[in-house]
Amino acid sequence: MTATGLETVVGLEVHTELKTATKLFCGCRNRFGDEPNTNVCPVCLGLPGSLPVLNRRAVELAMAIGTALECEIRPSIFHRKNYFYPDMPKDYQISQYDEPINVGGHLTLPDGTVVGIVRAHIEEDTGKTTHVGETGRIHGADRALVDYNRAGVPLVEIVSAPDLRSGEAARAYVTELRAILVATGASDGRMEEGSLRVDANVSVREPGAPFGTRCEVKNMNSLRSLQRAVEHEAERQAAVVAAGGTVEQETRHWDEDAGRTVPLRSKEEAYDYRYFPEPDLLPLAPDATWRAAVAASLPPMPRARRAVLVERLGTVTDAQRDQVASVVADDDGGVAPQLALARVANEVAALGDPHRLDASGVVALLAMEARGDLSATQTKAVLQRMAETGEDPDAIAAAMGLEQIGEDALDATLDAVIAAHTDEWARYREGDEKLAQFFVGQVMRETGGKADGKAVVAGLVRRR
Ligand code: ADP
Ligand code: MG
Ligand code: ZN
Repeated sequence: MTATGLETVVGLEVHTELKTATKLFCGCRNRFGDEPNTNVCPVCLGLPGSLPVLNRRAVELAMAIGTALECEIRPSIFHRKNYFYPDMPKDYQISQYDEPINVGGHLTLPDGTVVGIVRAHIEEDTGKTTHVGETGRIHGADRALVDYNRAGVPLVEIVSAPDLRSGEAARAYVTELRAILVATGASDGRMEEGSLRVDANVSVREPGAPFGTRCEVKNMNSLRSLQRAVEHEAERQAAVVAAGGTVEQETRHWDEDAGRTVPLRSKEEAYDYRYFPEPDLLPLAPDATWRAAVAASLPPMPRARRAVLVERLGTVTDAQRDQVASVVADDDGGVAPQLALARVANEVAALGDPHRLDASGVVALLAMEARGDLSATQTKAVLQRMAETGEDPDAIAAAMGLEQIGEDALDATLDAVIAAHTDEWARYREGDEKLAQFFVGQVMRETGGKADGKAVVAGLVRRR
């Protein structure tokens, strides 16, 4: 809702780079951060006479995304999208146009909102232009540097239906989508590095009225700026309407520092891309066997993992469920989903009913483990006590005297243990890896379990 009571309508276009070893149509390495213009060849530089060869793994990852988003995977073809831009050496981009590989899916947000997925198609990325100068933008730049390493990197563009109703919902959608993309192994989901890029289409309307004219907002490089950009853009449009004006369809640029959107190009300047079928590539039609193999290879998606988590934890309130949801949906939350799942699937599941755990306590405990305040062994011990007493993990850890011992104390203990077991030490040094566990066990005994096993092994390797 805007300040004047209009409803915000948002549809998102999300580009994700695929985590393949090589580019979409050539054997050049697909890697972020390499020396500029080192991963290039005649194909991705668009030199005359070169021919594209489709990357099988990229297709597989696109199918994985389509499957995870419950899309129909269809026979598809590639088109050339023609336009001139210095970072695109071929002067056209190979993309899927009216016959994309994935259509008609949906994504369910943690709060139950269902968002339609119109399509998720394959295309190639462009190179990257860096404008050197004070603003970092084209205007006022002294020079422009072009890096073609990214030209031809495989992308999937995921287009949502205009089903989102606020900046917060847009953020929740990208958070969930990112978790799904990471779970499929298709993407590393890094918005800051540009491997996940979000364009927001925003309009406003009287609640219940037909959709209004939309503007597309670009250049948000964090979840926070996405939310801010949508909120700002909706208010800007609402103000236009309140002043008796009409919203013009245009592309706008999010200016993070100024906290507002500014016009980039209007509808009149919109490109005519002259799409035509790419004559150098065959139609793509994954058969049922291949589709089934991709589906079978997928791990459980975040939503399913959350359901397991909530079920194993027993009855939880809505607030607790949201908290659990944030732990497994948001990798920057400090607790890796893998850790949360492992602890819940093993330790919590083994407790049996009834137990006195609640979601917020478990989340707090896992955060302590993720920070390194507790070792894995200590975490399990605290979890047992929480299940029995229903107390806070902080209080239990303090009462049990569980802090990990410091580096100096650990070093001294390890030296003493080695001195007391010279035979074992000699065998370990000669390559008997099994003895590492023996030493870890001895150190644990000496320290009452307060040592970090990984640190002990690191100490052994250093002394070897
Ligand atoms: P185009 O091909 O011009 O990009 P699409 O119909 O494919 O247009 O829509 C692109 C995006 O815009 C989609 O994510 C869609 O949900 C969104 N969208 C379409 N109409 C509106 C609207 N009125 N308000 C907000 N978003 C919209
Ligand atoms: Mg579009
Ligand atoms: Zn190449």
